[in-house]
Amino acid sequence: MTSIVVLGSTNMDLVAYVPRAPARGETVTGREFRTVPGGKGANQAVAAARAGAEVSLIGAVGADEFGARLRSALEHSGVDTDLLRTVEGPSGTAHIVVDDEGGNAIVVVPGANGTVTSLTHGDEALIGTADALLLQLELPLSVVVEGARTARGLGVRTVLTPAPARALPPELLAATDLLVPNEHEAAALTGHAEPHAAAQALLRFVPEVVITLGASGCLYATRGAEPVTVPAPRVRAVDTTAAGDTFVGALAVALAEGRPVPGALAWASAAAALSVQRAGASTSMPYRSEIEAAAG
Ligand code: ADP
Repeated sequence: MTSIVVLGSTNMDLVAYVPRAPARGETVTGREFRTVPGGKGANQAVAAARAGAEVSLIGAVGADEFGARLRSALEHSGVDTDLLRTVEGPSGTAHIVVDDEGGNAIVVVPGANGTVTSLTHGDEALIGTADALLLQLELPLSVVVEGARTARGLGVRTVLTPAPARALPPELLAATDLLVPNEHEAAALTGHAEPHAAAQALLRFVPEVVITLGASGCLYATRGAEPVTVPAPRVRAVDTTAAGDTFVGALAVALAEGRPVPGALAWASAAAALSVQRAGASTSMPYRSEIEAAAG
């Protein structure tokens, strides 16, 4: 079976639905409140597990109620949490205000995620058994770099989602095989708003790039070949939260299974399109049988 390891964050998303976001010093009355397991690492792990891989998550939750719930939500989706630490203090939280126009404002408090500053021998051994290591930027940068370099040293493919957007150290790019920014992150990294130009700029640092373009699909580029654009299935989107994480999780599985790039991109696009048609983040992610049916 395909084996994927994710080194990344777990957060409890605390979501308030409001007519409009409050200004400084103001109080507004919300309509509804939900707590939803999230975090980019956990979301990608759930997406890959549902897409049919054996998945382990390396990270940390706090010794609080959220931590217990985050761990059990992961296990429920089939993610192995043996190397997910439980540490003193609070779990990571994302405080999200969603307004009536679907706009949002988010405060992330890293909590337990901030304690993951280096890998254990157990983490390294597990990474060595994987077909791919998935990384994002919601853990301390030091451990993201260490994870990527460890995987590279062991011959394990590294897939980096550069989110939340920030400048990337050269040693991280040097250990990245596939970089998957959305168009905003690609623009922030390169200064090029146009995706083809951004992809060309990124290829100076990494061998393969996929820029996700929301409802417009994605752009794949590799050195020495014409870039390929894959359109997204036309669907009615109701909630695009974690569309990118669904895409990356499914893409990593498809590539690890040896599917050729165009087919793997179409398969990941089918998975992400299924997720945007349902409300929720990790809860909306499709299972392999659903992706197979949709991808045809
Ligand atoms: P992120 O969620 O990181 O902002 P995108 O918005 O680019 O990333 O979405 C990631 C992928 O999800 C897209 O490449 C596409 O395959 C799929 N997707 C997103 N929005 C839609 C949509 N409205 N219809 C169909 N697919 C979508």
